[in-house]
Amino acid sequence: MKIRFMGTGTSQGVPMIGCDCAVCCSEDPRNTRFRTHVHVEMGGLNIQIDAAPEFRLRALEMGIPKVDLALLTHGHADHIQGFDDLRQYCELRRGEAIPVYSSEEGLRRLREIYPYAMRDKAAIKGYPAFRGELMPRVLDLGEAGRVYSTRQAHGRFETLGFVFEESVSGRRFVYYTDCSSVSAEAEELARGADLVVLDGLRPMDHPSHMTVGEAAEAASRIGGGQSYLIHMTHHIDHGIVDTELPDGVNLSYDGLVVEV
Ligand SMILES: [Zn+2]
Ligand SMILES: [Zn+2]
Ligand SMILES: [Zn+2]
Repeated sequence: MKIRFMGTGTSQGVPMIGCDCAVCCSEDPRNTRFRTHVHVEMGGLNIQIDAAPEFRLRALEMGIPKVDLALLTHGHADHIQGFDDLRQYCELRRGEAIPVYSSEEGLRRLREIYPYAMRDKAAIKGYPAFRGELMPRVLDLGEAGRVYSTRQAHGRFETLGFVFEESVSGRRFVYYTDCSSVSAEAEELARGADLVVLDGLRPMDHPSHMTVGEAAEAASRIGGGQSYLIHMTHHIDHGIVDTELPDGVNLSYDGLVVEV
């Protein structure tokens, strides 16, 4: 299984418009963060998780060859605004719709923003086409593997957390972004996974995201292999905060590629 970190920042991105703090002015490339979205290759399938506003730029830079299906964690702008750019991946499938799995809320937002794309085949050559599907508890992807889902609190909002399990290798990858905590159910589902990615917004409390400290604690409860934090603000200087984290927990950064 291969995971490409296409963007690792919060909704404003880093640097933040109009900010001259040390992180926003930093020359460390790991302090440049586009909005959070990742791409997973599992058992020959290319699975896109969310599509941030920079999706097209990042897909070009990171060489994403195809998209077989997409998962949408929730309908917030920083996770859904890049979906129109999946149009070229529809074109590569001769206009056939890309299945998009999400919650009721995610699918409703997808229909509201992209009404012209909610169809089995692209309306006009080059247009996007999406087939909205309610994410089941277990999504069976045949020989490629399975994706388990769990509902997470995101302040007053809700998001989907995903656990990928590749058939051929047995490797497991956990993706819990935009969550204010990891529930007992989510913790159990993630237990002992090879790679764990967790929302770690900033050092200070926030009503709808975990802090760096809370994410590190959740990583230790889950007890997996390597953990990475994601969805970070300009309060995090990569070179400093990364060295303060416990063993096996690191900050992710844009362009990071992990194979498990
Ligand atoms: Zn700043
Ligand atoms: Zn959100
Ligand atoms: Zn977000």
